[in-house]
Amino acid sequence: MVHAYDALLAHQRATSLLGSTAALLAWDQETQMPRGAGDVRAQQLSQLAELQHERATDPRVAEWLSQCAADARVQQDADRAANVREWQRDHDRATRLPSALVAELAEVESKAQQAWAEARSRDAFAKFRPWLDRMVALQQQKADCLKRPDQSRWDALADLYEPGMNAADLRALFAPLRTALVALRDRLRGGTPPTDAFARQPIAEAQQESFVRAVLAAMGFDDKRGRLDRSAHPFCTKVGADVRLTTRFRPEAVLDALGSTMHEGGHGLYEQGFDDAHFGTPLGEAVSLGVHESQSRLWENHVGRSLAFWQWCLPIAQKQLGGWRDVDAMAVFRAVNVVRPSLIRVEADEATYDLHVMVRFEIEQQLIDGQLGTSNLPGEWNRLYREYLGIAVPDDKHGCLQDVHWSCGLFGYFPTYTLGNLYAAQFAAAADKALGGLPALLERGQFTTLREWLRRQIHRHGRRHSPAELCRLVTGAPLSSAPFLQHLEKKLAVVYGI
Ligand code: ZN
Repeated sequence: MVHAYDALLAHQRATSLLGSTAALLAWDQETQMPRGAGDVRAQQLSQLAELQHERATDPRVAEWLSQCAADARVQQDADRAANVREWQRDHDRATRLPSALVAELAEVESKAQQAWAEARSRDAFAKFRPWLDRMVALQQQKADCLKRPDQSRWDALADLYEPGMNAADLRALFAPLRTALVALRDRLRGGTPPTDAFARQPIAEAQQESFVRAVLAAMGFDDKRGRLDRSAHPFCTKVGADVRLTTRFRPEAVLDALGSTMHEGGHGLYEQGFDDAHFGTPLGEAVSLGVHESQSRLWENHVGRSLAFWQWCLPIAQKQLGGWRDVDAMAVFRAVNVVRPSLIRVEADEATYDLHVMVRFEIEQQLIDGQLGTSNLPGEWNRLYREYLGIAVPDDKHGCLQDVHWSCGLFGYFPTYTLGNLYAAQFAAAADKALGGLPALLERGQFTTLREWLRRQIHRHGRRHSPAELCRLVTGAPLSSAPFLQHLEKKLAVVYGI
C-alpha cells in the first residue's frame, strides 16, 4: 500500500507542474506572444486553472491529509509535518469557496479589468463604478466563506496574502509610521533637494541593458536557471526550475531600468534560493507576499540606493553607459534618493511610497466592511492624498483609477507592499550586524555574501515558519517600523543636508 504522505506528495507535485506550465504561458503572454493569440491563450490559462482547482479540491486530498495527521512517522518528521500543515491550510481555503463563486469571480475579474482600463483611459470613474460594486460584493461573499470567527471580512482576505496578518495589527504598525513619514516629508522641504538631471540624459537601450545585466550578474542571479526579458510592467515568475524576470527601458530613465531590474532580481533570488529537493511542496514556496516583497525592496533600496553600492557601481555605469564622467558616487547616491511626493504609487520614492499604500488600506477596509459606498470613493481618495501626501489629485485617472488591483479582485493585498519595506529594513539591519557591516561588502561588490546570508536565513525555509516567526528568528524581534524609519532618516539627512 502506498503511504498517504507519498500519495499526497505525488499529487501535489503534479499539480505544481500544471501551475508552472500556466506560469510559462503567462510569461510568454507578457513578453513574446503575438497580440492575435490572446483569446486562445485566455482559454488555455482558464483550462489549466480549472484543472488545478479540481486537483486542489480532490476528495482524496482530504483523506490523505487526515491519514497524515494521525501518522506519527509524518508528525515526527519536521519537513513532512510542515508540508502537511501548509497543505491543510491550502486545502481548507480551496474547499471553502464554492466553485460557482470561483467561476463568477474569474469572469468578473476579467471583465472588470477591461472596464477599468477603458474607464482609466477616459478618466470616467462612473463607467467603472458598477463593476467595482459587483467586485466588492463578490469579495464580501468570498470573505464570508473564508473567515474564521475571530476575523473581519477584510482580515480574511488579507490572510490570503500575508498569513496571520490582520487589520488591527496593521493599524498598530502603520499609525506611528504614517505620523513619522508625514513629519519627514515636511522636514525635507527645509533641505537641499538633490539634482538628478544627469541621470535623465537619454541613453540607448542596448547600453542600459548591458549595464543592468552586469549588476544582476553581480547580485548572484544564476542565468543558467533564469533569464531577463522586457515587458511593459516588470515582474518575476518562477517556471518550474527557472526564474523569469522582466524589466523595462526608456531612453531618459536608466535609473528606473536599474531599480526595476534590482527589484525583480531580488524576487528572483528568493525564488532561486529554495531547496530543489522541496520542489512542489510548501517548503519550496514563498512564505508570504510581504516577505517576497522584502527581498525585492532590500536589493532595490538597501543595496541599490546606498552610497557604498554606488562607490562600486559608478565605474561600471560609466563604462557601460558611456557617460556620467563628471559625477561622483555621492552625486548619484543623492540623485537616486530624491523625494518628490507624487500622485502615482508605482513612481513613488522610498520616503512617500508607504503613504500611497496607507490611503488604499484605509479605503478598502471601509469598502469591504460596507462603511464606504463607491459613490464616495473619489472624494475620500482625494481627501486622504491631501492629508497624507500633501498634494491635490487633479482627476480620477491619477487618483482612484490608477491601479489595476481592485479590478482584479486583489483586496487585502496592498499592505504587503509596506510590510515588504518594513521587513526589508529589519532584515537589512540584521544582515549588517551579522556580516560585520553591509557597506564594506557593497563597496567591494561582494553581493553574493549577502545573497548567501539571505538564502540561509530566509529563502531555505520556504513556508516552514509563519512570517511573524520568521521575522523573530532572523532579527530577534517582532516586526516594527523603527528600523525602516532609522534607515530613511539617516540616509535622507545626508542626501538633503538636514
Ligand atoms: Zn515586488
